[in-house]
Amino acid sequence: MTATSPSVDTATIKIIAGEQDHLAHNYNPLPVVIARGEGAWVTDVEGKRYLDLLSAYSALNFGHGHPAIVAAAQEQLNRLTLTSRAYHNDRLGPFATALAELCGKDLVLPMNTGAEAVETGIKVARAWGYRVKGITADRAQIVVAHGNFHGRTTTIVGFSDDPGARGDFGPFAPGFVPVPYGDAAAIEAAITPETAAVLIEPIQGEAGVVLPPEGYLRAVRELCTEHGVLFIADEIQSGLARVGETFACDREGVVPDVYLLGKALGGGILPLSAVVADRDVLGVIRPGEHGSTFGGNPLAAAVGLRVVEMLQTGEFQRRAKLLGEHLDVKLRELIGHGVTGVRVVGLWAGVDIDPEVGTGRGIAEKLIARGVLVKDTHGQTIRVAPPLVVRATELDWAIEQLRVVLAG
Ligand code: PLP
Repeated sequence: MTATSPSVDTATIKIIAGEQDHLAHNYNPLPVVIARGEGAWVTDVEGKRYLDLLSAYSALNFGHGHPAIVAAAQEQLNRLTLTSRAYHNDRLGPFATALAELCGKDLVLPMNTGAEAVETGIKVARAWGYRVKGITADRAQIVVAHGNFHGRTTTIVGFSDDPGARGDFGPFAPGFVPVPYGDAAAIEAAITPETAAVLIEPIQGEAGVVLPPEGYLRAVRELCTEHGVLFIADEIQSGLARVGETFACDREGVVPDVYLLGKALGGGILPLSAVVADRDVLGVIRPGEHGSTFGGNPLAAAVGLRVVEMLQTGEFQRRAKLLGEHLDVKLRELIGHGVTGVRVVGLWAGVDIDPEVGTGRGIAEKLIARGVLVKDTHGQTIRVAPPLVVRATELDWAIEQLRVVLAG
């Protein structure tokens, strides 16, 4: 951002400059300072409104300040917020029951961030590999996909192939076998008697909303069953109604052994993640082997329970499907007009920007001036993931702004 940028004014510049004094530079945010949010809209410190087409990377599937979720949080704030798991609390059991039912599984292990859910899934897979499958100690392997994004811990970035994520952060944990995404035969070739799990995103979000070929998830399911390997689906970004179904795996009628959930589970209010699986898998974890001071706290459980209740109605899944069909038609009209390709699934799209008209970042910056917030990924792609409460007319308006920006 520069002082001459037409999209920012003095107060915004001052706040951004002030941040630089003491804030580590691990992000390069777009030059907009948000002060309020409601539904699909946010307002900056100058009072300018923007349509939020990112939804905090799908953590705001229900929009900013959804009244039902805020009410659940407020009610719980006045009662009890934190116990640690040293004690029981009266909110965690109902949340676990509701989430297990939503997933059609037996057990829930609550954590906070998505990366923690992934780490938990890795521990569960390894413990299952040794204790149930009988893999030789410390030899367990997990097959992962090229182009993955599962979070930022050292174990997780160790099996990323993004140089920016791995950088100078090694040495990394062994035991991960990367194979091309979307290639079931490559997974089969990578499976050995020491393979405990296959860990994949059913749709790769950070990679630019990359969809695997039709039938891939079914093939992964069959391979895992055939070879006695756990299928772990990272649905942290793809799950909880975004794709027009509760889970992206539902699109192929596939049920993984382990769901990793996060982001929208916390209703856009707080971090809440979970590992969900049947007793024969998640039951391998014994008291004292895994946990988190904040995981399963009563405030998060109250919010998570309300989120699950909202998902049980199917309303948000239906909205994502219908609005997504609309978005698909509208975005495709831009192909050849500054856009080289689009991938749309539910209310989630990766839009590839023609290098002739600019970069993903450049387009995102220009859209700020027109009241639309999107986020670039991997250089030429912008990701569109509006809150599921957005209206079709609002989407039309946002796409019109994109059309104008692309036209230069
Ligand atoms: N897994 C997937 C698929 C994600 O998209 C993300 C975040 O973008 C994560 C895991 C990590 O979640 P968190 O940022 O909450 O740690």
